[in-house]
Amino acid sequence: MAAPEVPIDVDPETGIWRTDDLPMVYLPRHFLVNNHRAVEAAMGIEPYRAILRQATEASAVHWCAVQARSLGLDPEQTVRRYFQRLSQRGWGRFEVEHLDAAGGQGRIALSASVFALEYGTGAGRPVCYMFEGFMTGALRHLLGDAGATATVGCEETQCAAQGHEHCLFEFGVDRPA
Ligand SMILES: [Zn+2]
Repeated sequence: MAAPEVPIDVDPETGIWRTDDLPMVYLPRHFLVNNHRAVEAAMGIEPYRAILRQATEASAVHWCAVQARSLGLDPEQTVRRYFQRLSQRGWGRFEVEHLDAAGGQGRIALSASVFALEYGTGAGRPVCYMFEGFMTGALRHLLGDAGATATVGCEETQCAAQGHEHCLFEFGVDRPA
């Protein structure tokens, strides 16, 4: 085992954790996934997926804006750092396989996804759709001013919960979903 690769600053008065200038919450993975399962059951997967897309996309855009500003990174550096940090924070190992800023397209492989691990291969369907908004949000940041209004899409085209070796996400401008 190894120590965390992200710096964690704890406010001694409030107990609030911060990493990279953002307040963070440290929680058990089962808590996250149990909540996820409960909402899937209550709402249905597709309506939940659509709402999650908006919420996680907004969060990704916010994270990238804060980091770009505080570290002075260019858009591609920021996006690569975003997926590095997610990997270091235990969501899974994100590997950027393709990132075309000019063409607005990308592909990311993910191993050890928290969702795939919790659902297991018995799920038989892609279960990591929460990350699709992470990708479309990162893509909006990558696109700069055009990213605010561009039509962007992302799909988990294969998932470890279907028995694949790893999960795979393809995203881009004018992609469906
Ligand atoms: Zn997956």
